[in-house]
Amino acid sequence: MTRRNHDIAELRRLDVAHHLPAQSSYKLQRDIGGSRIIVRAEGSTIYDGDGNAILDGMAGLWCVDVGYGRAELAEVAREQMLELPFYNTFFRTATPPPIALATKLAGLLGGELQHIFFNSSGSESNDTVFRLVRTYWDIKGEPQRKTFISRRNAYHGSTVASASLGGMSYMHVQGDLPIPGVEHVMQPYWFGDGFGEDPVAFGARAAQDIEDRILAIGPEKIAAFIGEPVQGAGGVIIPPDGYWQQVEAICRKYGILLVLDEVICGFGRLGEWFGFQKFGVTPDIVSMAKGLSSGYLPISATAVSRAIVETLRSVDDDFVHGYTYSGHPVAAAVALRNLEIIEREQLVDRVRSDVGPYFAAALARLAAHPLVGEARSLGLIGAVEIVAEKGTNRRFGGREGMAGPMVRDACIAGGLMVRAVRDSIVMCPPFIITHEEIDRMVAIIAAALDQVA
Ligand code: PLP
Repeated sequence: MTRRNHDIAELRRLDVAHHLPAQSSYKLQRDIGGSRIIVRAEGSTIYDGDGNAILDGMAGLWCVDVGYGRAELAEVAREQMLELPFYNTFFRTATPPPIALATKLAGLLGGELQHIFFNSSGSESNDTVFRLVRTYWDIKGEPQRKTFISRRNAYHGSTVASASLGGMSYMHVQGDLPIPGVEHVMQPYWFGDGFGEDPVAFGARAAQDIEDRILAIGPEKIAAFIGEPVQGAGGVIIPPDGYWQQVEAICRKYGILLVLDEVICGFGRLGEWFGFQKFGVTPDIVSMAKGLSSGYLPISATAVSRAIVETLRSVDDDFVHGYTYSGHPVAAAVALRNLEIIEREQLVDRVRSDVGPYFAAALARLAAHPLVGEARSLGLIGAVEIVAEKGTNRRFGGREGMAGPMVRDACIAGGLMVRAVRDSIVMCPPFIITHEEIDRMVAIIAAALDQVA
């Protein structure tokens, strides 16, 4: 592979002059003279244009599960591009890769989730959910079922419908969101909202908040409940035992569809292929993206139960929804090979019984640090809560959101890419991360905490 030389100073200048990066302050981008430029990556390490090697504790953006530098994913893309770079799936046409990938996903999902709609991003997948669910209820003869219940601090994407489904208030300010028909209830965030309370009782209280809202609105008006098995971007919120069973029971009691957003949790992140398997619940619809292709190409999928598809098939009308790149053949071929890699290298088992427990043990050591209020993980996703005083959830500096960014910046300077969510440091490394790299992650975080203390 030829390694290209980049003129980093010039790239940063052009970044400011012409490029608007996603989810960014354009003032800050200008004031710091352009973005950090990542030029290559290998395994679990990214390299920036200034020559720094940075351990990627975030798997890109919660997605590069099989790690960087997989030549076979590039080869399969090349072959597919030469054979058939694109053809659409509109108007009763299809191509072989999305059919093969849908078949593969149906096998992995099992049960009733046997039908797959393709999109290119997690946001699009949840937009598909939005229209599909309302269309389903219209056809069923219950058009008044329009309302979605979601949770505060949920992240379901950045398009208008998916950001509305999401529960981050700062994401609602721009664009006057949410759009009508989305209600946000409690999140099962024990450390923040249930501290001092028995965790299981707190989880039951969070589930009860869903039922209370359903009853307040009228169960006959509720279309679906949507949630991430473990909230990722909201701060790696691992629900207490029993929470998901209670949520499922509430949905069944009122005939409400249960939608799980597995965009981060899917494909092994929690030590099972899917989060719903980890928590023992049976969703009607599942959104997937990120780990589906390990980020090598943009692709996402919305899995739908047989019963929903039978309803859609009970009418002649088209489902008038879809994207030019729904079922893109190159992205689908790459995703299929990515799943084959996960199977061949037994990466889900690796998360469950090797690196997941190792990561948990390493975080347990970090929990002894005087600034750490809680260090939690499930599989290979985790968070460290930074507090002013051990044994409390009081925030550093008396203000929420001050310590997190400082510790994150110190981590990056120390050679570890992590994200800060308010006052927690969140981590989501590639499945191929080694024990030595996990030890290094924790050591860098400990040193960063020491700097801030
Ligand atoms: N759903 C979840 C749970 C996510 O974490 C994300 C992105 O982080 C999305 C949806 C949106 O995915 P995308 O950024 O590909 O649109």
